[in-house]
Amino acid sequence: MSELRWNPMLEEWVIVATHRQDRTYLPKTTECPLCPGVLEIPENFEIACFENRFPSLRKDPEEPEIEGDELYRVRKAQGICEVVVYTPEHEGTLTDQSVQKIYNLVRVWKDRYEELGSRDFIDYVFIFENKGEVIGVTLHHPHGQIYAYPFIPPKIRTELNASLKYYNKHNGQCLFCEILRKEREYQKRIVAENKSFTAFIPFFARYTYEVHIYPNQHLRSIAEFDDTTQQDLAKILKNVLLKYDNLFNFSFPYIMVMHQEPTTGERYDHYHFHIEFYPPYRTKEKIKYLAGSESGAGTFINDAAAEEKAKELRDSYPHWD
Ligand SMILES: [Zn+2]
Ligand SMILES: [Zn+2]
Ligand SMILES: [Zn+2]
Repeated sequence: MSELRWNPMLEEWVIVATHRQDRTYLPKTTECPLCPGVLEIPENFEIACFENRFPSLRKDPEEPEIEGDELYRVRKAQGICEVVVYTPEHEGTLTDQSVQKIYNLVRVWKDRYEELGSRDFIDYVFIFENKGEVIGVTLHHPHGQIYAYPFIPPKIRTELNASLKYYNKHNGQCLFCEILRKEREYQKRIVAENKSFTAFIPFFARYTYEVHIYPNQHLRSIAEFDDTTQQDLAKILKNVLLKYDNLFNFSFPYIMVMHQEPTTGERYDHYHFHIEFYPPYRTKEKIKYLAGSESGAGTFINDAAAEEKAKELRDSYPHWD
């Protein structure tokens, strides 16, 4: 069973996908479905991209089993879920990939964003990676995912609304460009930078080591990245990922997400591409759990100041110059 159910109080869709219970859970290396030659993965590949075998959203979904009404709206779970396998090597993480390899991955992301976004039933292409068992990762093989939704997800919607309000109030000024200007001026929350990108822990971070990466230029989506920008994204990603791993000398778990222009066909001049990392570790030993205030009220408690934590990451190897 697979369908979308509307929450009329939060005004957001919930994906109900009961078939996902049988997913492969932390298989032995010999049974890894993302290794070359297993399942639909070819023997020889650099980066492989294919549809998830246990998708939450489908291109040709079945009709919902349950009948909806005006309040309890129901919709077909139409969309596309893809898996992006970063490398044929089972061991390792994105951090271990060369800058060249990460650059190739950036090109794959751009291609998938454009291709999936061009479908008329896709309103938002969401590129992300869950890394580490504490995040609930079910396969160790280095990989990320893409969810192409038939709607604009609530978090993006909130950012779109806020940035549109700002844009209208400030004669077409971009909210994100202004945040970037403030962070670059203040300096203390910056973690790394290069010609095209700035990585920083924002003033308003929810997580202790929450790094955001913004292009220095006003670019709405990865589709607008030229070749230099794509290379620079690979470089700053490699840099931030190494800093994470070197911070406590273990492979640092995180959720990495890409926020960019929806693919509804409209133009969102007020929106600005960025990447956000949510790492669960708040110290070398302690993990941040989403508890009462976060889960029940939506208000995060961050027990560290971004200024201090950014310094730790800035001092963590490698230094950018
Ligand atoms: Zn594998
Ligand atoms: Zn901007
Ligand atoms: Zn965002």
